[in-house]
Amino acid sequence: MTAARTGEVYRVDWLPGTDVLHGTCHCGAEHTAEDPVAMWAWMLAHPDGHDPRGNGS
Ligand SMILES: [Zn+2]
Repeated sequence: MTAARTGEVYRVDWLPGTDVLHGTCHCGAEHTAEDPVAMWAWMLAHPDGHDPRGNGS
């Protein structure tokens, strides 16, 4: 799933055999959630709750 119009790319994969969504933000942070609404809420909340790799914390 992408949203290239703004140059920000999101990826959401459904883990096979589970109810778990695995999302990757354009910033590199990763998140898992069972609820698609929760997943999108997390993505749209960027950078709150995001922990991009290589950014110190
Ligand atoms: Zn992010």
